Amino acid sequence: MGCKHAGSAASSGFAALHLEVGARLGRYEQRYTTYRRLLVEALSRAERPLTVAELVAMHPEVPQSSTYRNVTALMESGVVRRVAGTDGHGRFELSEDLSRHHHHFACIACGRVMDLAPSERLEHALSEAARVVSEEQDVEISEHRFDFLGRCSKCKAVAAAS
Ligand SMILES: [Zn+2]
Ligand SMILES: [Zn+2]
Repeated sequence: MGCKHAGSAASSGFAALHLEVGARLGRYEQRYTTYRRLLVEALSRAERPLTVAELVAMHPEVPQSSTYRNVTALMESGVVRRVAGTDGHGRFELSEDLSRHHHHFACIACGRVMDLAPSERLEHALSEAARVVSEEQDVEISEHRFDFLGRCSKCKAVAAAS
């Protein structure tokens, strides 16, 4: 397996992340292997959730079944979460407490899923929405998850041209 990236200068920015992920895996008696570190770094670097096929493409020397198993182990340890899209492909990202709060946009035409950069305006609108819910229902809102569906800029242009 390609171990050459581990411990390189490029990895040093992930020190705190690796420490936390290692601790989580340890709680589930899971080892933090070199390949799991590479997966975590890839997910951390990506600005959108990645499919297993995309993760496999980054390390074609690792069998797809092994990538699936490792992603599942990371998910079971609370390191990774699955993001719902508009197609059948599972997409994965680091848990929000290991990255940062954000939302997603999923294209109903081509299936691409992207992270929406955190914006003060959007968060303000969503906290207003939370206030409406807590006023209308007997609940207390502490956080939110909100994904948007529609057509991405590419598919929007195709639809407009046809
Ligand atoms: Zn699209
Ligand atoms: Zn939000």
